[in-house]
Amino acid sequence: MLIEENKLRELVTQILQGMGSDRAEAEVVGDHLVRANLSGHDSHGIGMLPHYVRNLEIDRLKPNTQAKTIKDAGNILVFDGQLGYGQRVAKESMQQAIDKAKHHSICLMGLRNAHHIGRIGTYGEQAIDAGVISIHFVNVTDHPPVVAPFAAKQARYVTNPICIAVPGTGKTESILLDFATSRIALGKVRVAMNKGDKLATGMVIDETGSENTNPDIMFETPPKGALMPFGEHKGSGLALMCEILAGVLTGGGSIQPGNNRLGGIINNMMTIVIDPQAMTSQNYVHNEIDALLDYVKSASPVNSDTPVLTAGDPERLSTQDRRTNGIPVDDNTWQQLLDTAKKYGVATGEWV
Ligand code: NAD
Repeated sequence: MLIEENKLRELVTQILQGMGSDRAEAEVVGDHLVRANLSGHDSHGIGMLPHYVRNLEIDRLKPNTQAKTIKDAGNILVFDGQLGYGQRVAKESMQQAIDKAKHHSICLMGLRNAHHIGRIGTYGEQAIDAGVISIHFVNVTDHPPVVAPFAAKQARYVTNPICIAVPGTGKTESILLDFATSRIALGKVRVAMNKGDKLATGMVIDETGSENTNPDIMFETPPKGALMPFGEHKGSGLALMCEILAGVLTGGGSIQPGNNRLGGIINNMMTIVIDPQAMTSQNYVHNEIDALLDYVKSASPVNSDTPVLTAGDPERLSTQDRRTNGIPVDDNTWQQLLDTAKKYGVATGEWV
């Protein structure tokens, strides 16, 4: 079914209020989830709510919690998310990092111990809106590993995303690179399971190391399969660097088994925010980006039905489409959302 953006946002916001958040927090989290759906990343949209309910019930998610400042020295910031909603604590931390970068030209910010921070591109968009560049490395803990290192048949990482955001120039649109270091995000496997779809080959291996297309094997306890890293040894190497930069350097912890695995979803994130004029003039940066992007996009497509895009274009196109035509929600996800609404006393009529 197709659901209008504002109706979906209001339903999700009311559910989050029912789960204990004040209205302001519920609006931040609800908006983040619906924007993930708008951008085409259903894996990080409203379908995450049942996971949040589970984490609330095991006390691994704490509503109405702010990011706590651990360090504020020069252009270095460290925050503890204290298991608060990641969408809130990461947004708050990001705002402070942007303010620092505007003052110091660059800011290094660590966020540790946040509950799931969702679609990392949202923080890239926050930087883009403020006219600065951001680079994010993220790891995931408190959770059994689900991604196999290159050449392994056992999982050792979670889906450790990376994001780099560059503001637009006026002529050229913003560039937003944002992806998991696995070939497919775990949430996309969940979306396939909910729709009853098979996975493409090469995404998941089973316990024997053989390729498997059944998404269900990733949601058995413990998972009977592992996601493959993207780009073979290259993605696997980046996943390791996410552990070191986001997990170790922020003080949040890596996936190594000496750290807690209490069944929640914790994200740690290392962010670098850069003023694009830190090293040369805005005029130069804009002219050069315009010329570069014109050149890249002038390459002839292999297939005329598949245009040459740059990072951020698919999300823009999806947002335009879904704002106009509605957000597609599969039957299983919709039923889960209605069940969650009922559980928290939210009326379930009139949303479609
Ligand atoms: P993906 O494979 O869909 O890749 C998305 C990126 O590729 C975007 O930057 C997009 O603009 C670009 N892209 C897509 N098609 C393109 C094309 N034809 N030409 C040029 N660029 C193109 O993303 P994913 O790995 O499935 O990740 C989905 C989301 O999951 C991301 O938003 C990520 O932040 C999020 N995620 C979050 C966590 C977490 O722990 N919070 C973990 C993993 C992933």
